[in-house]
Amino acid sequence: MKDLYGADCRKYEYIKVKAMSVCGRYGYSEIYTPMLEYSEVFQRSIGDETDVVSKEMYTFVDRGHESITLRPEGTAGVIRAAVTESLVQALPVRLMYCGEMFRYDRPQKGRYRQFRQFGCEHIGEKSPYIDAMVIAMASEILNAIGVFDFTVLVNSLGDEETLEAYTKAVVKYFSRHEKSLSPESQVRLTKNPLRILDSKDRHDIEICSMAPIISDYFTKEARSYFGKVMELLDAYGLRYEVDNFLVRGLDYYTHTAFEFKPTTGEFRESIGGGGRYDKLVAMFGGPDISGIGFAFGVERLMMLLSNEHFDTTTKTVAVIPVSNSENDYAFSLFRELHSVGVAAEFIHSGNMSKKMKAADKLGCELALIIGDEERSSDTVSVKFMNATESAIKSRTINAVSTVQFVKNALGGHKS
Ligand code: AMP
Repeated sequence: MKDLYGADCRKYEYIKVKAMSVCGRYGYSEIYTPMLEYSEVFQRSIGDETDVVSKEMYTFVDRGHESITLRPEGTAGVIRAAVTESLVQALPVRLMYCGEMFRYDRPQKGRYRQFRQFGCEHIGEKSPYIDAMVIAMASEILNAIGVFDFTVLVNSLGDEETLEAYTKAVVKYFSRHEKSLSPESQVRLTKNPLRILDSKDRHDIEICSMAPIISDYFTKEARSYFGKVMELLDAYGLRYEVDNFLVRGLDYYTHTAFEFKPTTGEFRESIGGGGRYDKLVAMFGGPDISGIGFAFGVERLMMLLSNEHFDTTTKTVAVIPVSNSENDYAFSLFRELHSVGVAAEFIHSGNMSKKMKAADKLGCELALIIGDEERSSDTVSVKFMNATESAIKSRTINAVSTVQFVKNALGGHKS
């Protein structure tokens, strides 16, 4: 579990604000659901035999003897809320969320036990146009935060009939290779055979390369649905690749499934993914309607953004009394600056050289220096901290015009 501070916190806010502004334009509104739900909410929807439910959930019995789980993902809670709050009475429902998720995962770079996801759910409309629109919107989010080098992997899990026929074929194929599969995949063979397809084990991957491909088992409807989604993605000009083995980790997906991966830099793992679900809303007691959603891992997006623009956010001015006798006078100027919304630092410890170093370290743009001479002549000495050799480095101004001068000099906030 990672502590977030400094530039990371600013990146987090930036990603959230940008993502919400893109999705707001598509009609999504924000929802906060509880971080804790009854364990059943996740067990039934995600599926008992998935890795998330069987190995990764933080589940405990509370004081009321109820089994409770810290949410491992956002979709189940959002759909549960859409049903219990009767939001599904006016369709479509479009909801976005941003918050903490918890998984007892093996920690490594980009994988934490507490992490954040930004996600969206579009509930109550089933059409290739919606699927393409949602994938394009997710790509727009990446563009909006300044990420352009990524690819979208897409696949279709087809309809119920497709999945049934395909699962049978997969079981038949892997049964022939059972002895060569990793122990984990041998268990999957009886419990959740499709999960073998995204095993990370080297031998499993080799065996998977010859496994049946889902598109050979599509019903006519499933094939034409997926064909239309791809045609629309082409129309958007989106760079995507069909990955026949993209099955995603959770039970509730049907039809379109997708995942985003960076194509440059050190980190090439999934940064987000999602897909369509046909049964989830009804499973929570709602109407028999379909939905589609996705989630980005915020920490993973943060890894793609350089720290450069996030090191400081606010332009600041340092108010520096030369000696203790000017402290009160300088402090009143400091208070005046804050009262009109200017970010200021009051630096009064140590000698002058120490004070100037402190102002520099804090990233102050200007230093307002007040000594005996300034006080007696009602002036303030201004030093431009970032001035180059040739630029004006300092000047003296009238004390009464200080606030206006500082406002003009700082001229607002950095992006
Ligand atoms: P999933 O819900 O498993 O499809 O994950 C969606 C996205 O959440 C992934 O693409 C990752 O970006 C992120 N994610 C999933 N698990 C973790 C984790 N343990 N730590 C950090 N990010 C994660």
